[in-house]
Amino acid sequence: MNDPTLIGPCADYEHDIVELQEGGLPADRVPAVRSHLEHCRRCRDWAAAFAMVDARLAAGLPMPALSPDFDARLRERIAALAAPGARAELRTRLELEHDSVVESLVHTARRRAVLGGLGSAALAFCLVTAGRDLIAEGASWLPALGEGPERWAAFGALGAVIAVAALAWSAARSGVAGLAWPR
Ligand SMILES: [Zn+2]
Repeated sequence: MNDPTLIGPCADYEHDIVELQEGGLPADRVPAVRSHLEHCRRCRDWAAAFAMVDARLAAGLPMPALSPDFDARLRERIAALAAPGARAELRTRLELEHDSVVESLVHTARRRAVLGGLGSAALAFCLVTAGRDLIAEGASWLPALGEGPERWAAFGALGAVIAVAALAWSAARSGVAGLAWPR
């Protein structure tokens, strides 16, 4: 066997010879390495064998194949990312989506609260009309409403407000104007 790759080059030059063949050797080192190759047969043979193996490997390895429009698509995406305002636009869009979701949640919650409040108003109305005398006897806030006819006028106004609220609640709930016991 006189395969020069089994013997190897001079240890000090192996790395430099590879670098020289791959074009990566610093320019100030090139003359010394070339000069050594001229005078050292062992390194020269090894360099030739290395070049041959390297060429065969390069020819035998499959080249990575990219889809024909890969470059175009890549350039497009880079341009989109680099375009001024593209990130800001994306961010604004995401923020708008977020805001609309939050707003819809808040809206739903508020609507439920309003409906619940109106339901309570209708219940209070029924209690007031059904048990007016009972409430008049027991409620501690009644003195603030005055005495005698004034008290009943205040009750009337309160009842009217509650009746309107109950009508609104009923309309909002069933779509039909009219008093209905909450379901
Ligand atoms: Zn040598």
